[in-house]
Amino acid sequence: GPVLAIESSCDETAVAILAPDGTVLAERLLSQLDHLPFGGVVPEIAARAHLWHLPALVEQALDQAALRTSDLAAVAASCGPGLIGGLIVGSSVGKGLALTLGIPFVPVNHIEAHALSARLPGVVDGGAPFPFLLLLVSGGHCQCVAVDGLGRYRRLGGTIDDAAGEAFDKVAKMLGLGWPGGPALEKLASQGDGRRYDLPRPLKGRPGCDFSFSGLKTAVAQKLASLPGVREGGTPTASEAADLAASFQAAVGDAVADRVGRALDMMPDATLLVAAGGVAANGALRRRLTDLAAARGLRFAAPPLRLCTDNAVMVGWAAIEILREARASGRDPDGLDTLPRPRWPLEEMAARHAPASG
Ligand code: ATP
Ligand code: MG
Ligand code: FE
Repeated sequence: GPVLAIESSCDETAVAILAPDGTVLAERLLSQLDHLPFGGVVPEIAARAHLWHLPALVEQALDQAALRTSDLAAVAASCGPGLIGGLIVGSSVGKGLALTLGIPFVPVNHIEAHALSARLPGVVDGGAPFPFLLLLVSGGHCQCVAVDGLGRYRRLGGTIDDAAGEAFDKVAKMLGLGWPGGPALEKLASQGDGRRYDLPRPLKGRPGCDFSFSGLKTAVAQKLASLPGVREGGTPTASEAADLAASFQAAVGDAVADRVGRALDMMPDATLLVAAGGVAANGALRRRLTDLAAARGLRFAAPPLRLCTDNAVMVGWAAIEILREARASGRDPDGLDTLPRPRWPLEEMAARHAPASG
């Protein structure tokens, strides 16, 4: 039967219902606007908004799918990593529902859900095969992960300072684009010349596949401050702003492509490069990665834009994969006793395969 999934790890309140084959039967998503005046997510406000909206979204999703709760086979929710208040709300609602209905509760790692989103039916012809290299680029993360199989993740490298989305958001803020800035910055960059300003490509050419964005961010700030109009206390001209946005985006694309190239060197058995997370919605970055993969005879895949940023469909899909595997190996998939947690490294997912003690 269908799985109902809840996402509440940050500022998206989302519910989805998926059929066992991954068909999306219902999808409800609310991006909280309550944080706009603060220029960033306020955890306490996020938790309250999740609590306020979640019950209605669950009902709307059931309506949309024309299902009753008694039709559900399992309930899943993000249990980490993320903001603990929201995670407590989402997992509690999910557990309550599962407990009442006497069906399994599947605790899902939010990052694993991003990782597996490329395996959703329709994203890659025939389904994304293991092993693949995952570039996870989101608001809170930037890392290269070797995905050897379900639950088998190896972090090859990651950011030593800011996450990619964080860099986009900070640069967008400098350019007066508001928050969250990624999509607005991409739009502005599309009108600009990415070769106009010479910006650094952090860590390019260095061994390993770590990332760094804070120096690039500082370079943008310095370039901006040096513009004549800005030096006189004003704002950049429209073309300066667009060219700076485009130059920043080009620098990110160059740096990321270099780092991902190194990660691919470390994973010679991969035939597929996958990008996931909010920044994977960026068209320029997707083109860079498509070219990088093609040059090495690999395929590139990324989920459709709405499934790159936070959503419940990916949570439901991860739950389906976890349930399927638990069933195949005769394990009880129920995780009613799993507590939500702000940190939950991907490497720990291997514990799922450990034989039950006792
Ligand atoms: P995490 O998943 O690491 O916990 P998160 O849930 O906040 O963090 P996502 O929702 O996956 O992150 O992604 C949001 C981030 O993606 C924001 O930083 C946003 O600016 C960025 N982003 C979204 N669309 C684009 C785009 N088109 N170009 C660049 N960045 C983008
Ligand atoms: Mg978000
Ligand atoms: Fe996310």
